[in-house]
Amino acid sequence: MSTFQAPKGTYDLTPPRSATFLAVREAIAAPLRDSGYGYIETPGFENVELFARGVGESTDIVTKEMYTLTTKGGDQLALRPEGTASVLRAALEANLHKAGNLPVKLWYSGSYYRYERPQAGRYRHFSQVGAEAIGTEDPVLDAELIILADQAYRSLGLRQFRILLNSLGDKECRPVYREALQTFLRDLDLDEETRRRIEINPLRVLDDKRADVQKQLTDAPKLRDYLCDACKAYHEEVRALLTAAGVVYEDDEKLVRGLDYYTRTTFEFVHDGLGSQSAVGGGGRYDGLSEMIGGPELPSVGWALGVDRTVLALEAEGIELDLPYTTSVYAVPLGEEARRVLFGVVTGLRRAGIAADFAFGGRGLKGAMKSANRSGARYALVAGERDLAEGVVQLKDMESGEQSAVPLTEVAAELAKRLG
Ligand code: AMP
Repeated sequence: MSTFQAPKGTYDLTPPRSATFLAVREAIAAPLRDSGYGYIETPGFENVELFARGVGESTDIVTKEMYTLTTKGGDQLALRPEGTASVLRAALEANLHKAGNLPVKLWYSGSYYRYERPQAGRYRHFSQVGAEAIGTEDPVLDAELIILADQAYRSLGLRQFRILLNSLGDKECRPVYREALQTFLRDLDLDEETRRRIEINPLRVLDDKRADVQKQLTDAPKLRDYLCDACKAYHEEVRALLTAAGVVYEDDEKLVRGLDYYTRTTFEFVHDGLGSQSAVGGGGRYDGLSEMIGGPELPSVGWALGVDRTVLALEAEGIELDLPYTTSVYAVPLGEEARRVLFGVVTGLRRAGIAADFAFGGRGLKGAMKSANRSGARYALVAGERDLAEGVVQLKDMESGEQSAVPLTEVAAELAKRLG
């Protein structure tokens, strides 16, 4: 231990657990890449105004959870608390939407920052893989994204997750509902902060986790009863497409999500083995976001899946990913001369695409063979003075224990053959 520790609410990813994180990112990204989504990377920080306008002035994310900073040059920046606003900003800046190929389909992977109260599954630094489909209003696109997330989770072996689905209406019908909800909420017995929330963002009150609040919400007007015909038809189509794809979901009319930009389709993936931080991923349609950040009208839909919580979900289900050992060959030199020669062999193997590692530090046979074992390598190469004098190395099969002398000049070819 040094004088320093990882900051509160953060943790380090170290081997071997870190390999699972990489595999999870890859499992989520693979179906996206195979479905026409291109990779995008944006800066870790943005102009704070982008999030204030995009995510919403009244959301917890913007009011309480953003890491903001003023640069020496006087710029007001924020570490990104989420990905959608940045990705849309970048797509607009690069004019991707004008290239004549809508929707613009993008995927990303990275670190996000929220100043939250840390607890199991909730961190101040976490990692997401996300997808956005920009510029098209088509229920098939909403369905595609939900199906791809479902496919990603299933490919990891996850089973105990559920998909919650809702529609938040659009700019026609949501204001009407909003007013009806506000009228209802104003009559309830609520604290000062929640009363303020009624005026700024009443839908968020539905999301309140406190039991005494939830009890009063039983008879709250339901958004479903206020959806306009266009929103209803759109939502029905999304539901039908999911059903046709064999993707099981639950209608959840309380699902409002913590970001202001959502319209119509919203969804969340929840995992039942995670306790209170059960949302492993979420997303929805955000038809108005582009205009909110000064862009043209570009109806879009997307999601972000949390990598940290997905790993916790794997652990909760007792799933161990089949992660092959990365090292195939482990070289153990005995003596100075052998060290030079075997290191040359290892370099050659690596250049030939065979994963190889080396016993550094001039260690004895016993300790070095222990490391060879731990590395998971299928083969060990051992050589001492006498082997070198005969121009051979000892090739040991770590599974069977069998050992044979192989001429130095043939080691690479022999290993290539054995490793297939
Ligand atoms: P959100 O943008 O809040 O819907 O977040 C999308 C996903 O990111 C969530 O479902 C979580 O898996 C993950 N996530 C969000 N906030 C955190 C956090 N503070 N710690 C860990 N994961 C998070």
